[in-house]
Amino acid sequence: REEFLRVEGLKKYFPIRKGIFKKVVNHVKAVDGVSFSIREGETLGVVGESGCGKSTTGRTLMHLLEPTAGSVYFQGKEIGQMLKEDPGKVRQNIQIIFQDPYGSLNPRMTVKEIVGEAVKLYGIAKGAKELDRYVTDVIVKAGLRPEHRFRHPHEFSGGQRQRIGIARALALNPKFIVCDEPVSALDVSIQSQVLNELRDLQQDLGLTYLFITHDLSVVKHISDRIAIMYLGKIVEITSKASMFSNPLHPYTKALMSAIPLPDPTIKVDRVELKGDIPSPIDPPEGCRFHTRCPYATDRCSVEEPLLKEVESDHQVACFLLDD
Ligand code: SF4
Ligand code: MG
Repeated sequence: REEFLRVEGLKKYFPIRKGIFKKVVNHVKAVDGVSFSIREGETLGVVGESGCGKSTTGRTLMHLLEPTAGSVYFQGKEIGQMLKEDPGKVRQNIQIIFQDPYGSLNPRMTVKEIVGEAVKLYGIAKGAKELDRYVTDVIVKAGLRPEHRFRHPHEFSGGQRQRIGIARALALNPKFIVCDEPVSALDVSIQSQVLNELRDLQQDLGLTYLFITHDLSVVKHISDRIAIMYLGKIVEITSKASMFSNPLHPYTKALMSAIPLPDPTIKVDRVELKGDIPSPIDPPEGCRFHTRCPYATDRCSVEEPLLKEVESDHQVACFLLDD
């Protein structure tokens, strides 16, 4: 499959300001040099503990947040450049579904207003009748009923509210959607329903997803390939099958060791995580994982391992894989 989206050396630093003059004293290095690509029609899952920079990666790659450094190419074109030339084109093609279906929906607007806002703005449906028909179509696609368009967000359950968020994202006929923990706030019983709907929509509409989650069972359900993030960097990226059957980075193994393995024939070296995740303000020198890694050597605290292809379609950033 053709390369659809490519991220190169993406960084997002947030300044920390102090004192009456709000002088910048340091930075939170939320995303610190991330590169990967996504193929058309696939779901790339991005997994990591909270604070590892996965949400910031999603927001920065679509320029909801201005990148500190790096480039993102959408179908071969740099997004920052596209935004200068034709901002509407970027917003139509690239959408986001947020984690919190409560906070991200304006409580004073009806579903029709929420979903129709951008449709009107970009002149996709003209006139009241056409807009009404258009919005009705979109919300039905997202799993709601036509009469739901006259209601307000608080009249819905969590799962249905997230369907409003999905409808809003679908309204402009995007090609690519950043799904930022879209089921994390939902009851477990609803989660797989919404995941299945997202998957069906992907197939029906030819969508490509970046799917952010801290939950390995969710990522196992939805992803084609998986990237593991730790402290602002990707430490491992490969297909779902090889991530679960042959995880190579010690951090990935630690994450896998923390879940009960559904398949007892799959053997993962158990790695226990020591201590807490360090601060992204002054991340450890060398390998960022060395303060918690049971295999760390002297080299790991001074030299940074780069993400390298260790087998076909499997990249890992760890010195253990060097030989
Ligand atoms: Fe552990 Fe060193 Fe590998 Fe980092 S490079 S994961 S510290 S062994
Ligand atoms: Mg997040």
